[in-house]
Amino acid sequence: MSASCPRRPDDVTTPAPSATPPATGRLRFEAVSKRFGDHLAVDGVSLDLEPGIVFCLLGPSGCGKSTLLRMTAGFEDPSAGRILLDGQDLAGAAPHRRPVNMMFQSYALFPHRTVARNVAYGLERERLAKPEIAARVAEMLRLVQLEPLGTRRPDQLSGGQRQRVALARALAKRPRVLLLDEPLGALDRSLREETQGELRALQRRLGTTFVVVTHDPAEAMVLADRIGVMAAGRLVQVGPAAELYERPATRYVAGLLGDVNLIEGRLGEGGAGRLRGLDTPLGALTAFDHHGAGAAGAPGLLALRPERLRLGGEEGLPGTLLDATYLGDKILYRVGMADGRVLRAAGPPGAGPGVGAPVRLAFAPEAASLLAAEPA
Ligand code: ATP
Repeated sequence: MSASCPRRPDDVTTPAPSATPPATGRLRFEAVSKRFGDHLAVDGVSLDLEPGIVFCLLGPSGCGKSTLLRMTAGFEDPSAGRILLDGQDLAGAAPHRRPVNMMFQSYALFPHRTVARNVAYGLERERLAKPEIAARVAEMLRLVQLEPLGTRRPDQLSGGQRQRVALARALAKRPRVLLLDEPLGALDRSLREETQGELRALQRRLGTTFVVVTHDPAEAMVLADRIGVMAAGRLVQVGPAAELYERPATRYVAGLLGDVNLIEGRLGEGGAGRLRGLDTPLGALTAFDHHGAGAAGAPGLLALRPERLRLGGEEGLPGTLLDATYLGDKILYRVGMADGRVLRAAGPPGAGPGVGAPVRLAFAPEAASLLAAEPA
């Protein structure tokens, strides 16, 4: 799977946290597993989430993202492991007793209740005093900019407005952690992009920890302070978007976050945290081994983003320019190499070599990553 990258991270830094870090909302998973019959849906997930961050669980359908969320909300019990919120084990606590709330992709709004009474629902169940409920509902409607629409029913709203009602309802009880399962999945593309920005801004204002499930890498990159990539029930890699993009731990992560060239070969001497050689059909290449790609002599992969490949210099790997596609902000070149493979390079718009011309492709070794050759 691959996805277009909404921005090109140039440095590996975490976005600035909200001004005053909240004291609550630290979520911790300790070796959490969930088995449904023979199927291990979540497999030994350990994770520590700082209070007040947006954490995105990213992965393909069926990899266990929702199950992890549902266990946190209390709709499922882990088969093994513990989930702690601010140091307290959540085991045995009924969903409505947990200081967490969940927003579903379907929104699950009550069709016969007005917007205001949808938002009030959890507060009424908690039997808060009426003036307190009214004040909180007004505060929430203001927060999601739906104040004038409090008396409408859900069927009198647009998709984006319904999404905001669901968000307001989920936040009304002031949870320490908000769990959002594909929160923007029902919106069309342009509204989705606009809403990503609103959601991010809202979270920054509130400082509530958000755990967002998505299968859209671009969405995770926009929303998250940190991303956890899941595959087949396991957490494959956790880090800020830039780190996953620049230093993928596996071929799967490399391909998930953007276009990548992969060149296979045999690993040279070395280990994690150093430059290391790879003997490839294109010759001896050097790249950075961030995570420990394997023993010397083992099969390895060199992962290289197209924008890290320079085309048109005097040095580098020889090839032939097959085509050049103008994409507005860049030109994407396809270059045929001596062994028949095609590498993709991206460069700034402007005059370049003509199609059919001999070219050379060069890269800085630090800009390429070495990976183990196994799948996933
Ligand atoms: P999606 O993006 O499609 O929602 P997901 O990554 O959230 O996928 P989960 O819903 O967590 O995946 O499901 C993980 C695996 O566990 C799937 O194979 C699913 O069929 C299985 N599963 C989930 N809930 C149950 C259940 N109640 N009983 C049996 N199997 C289940």
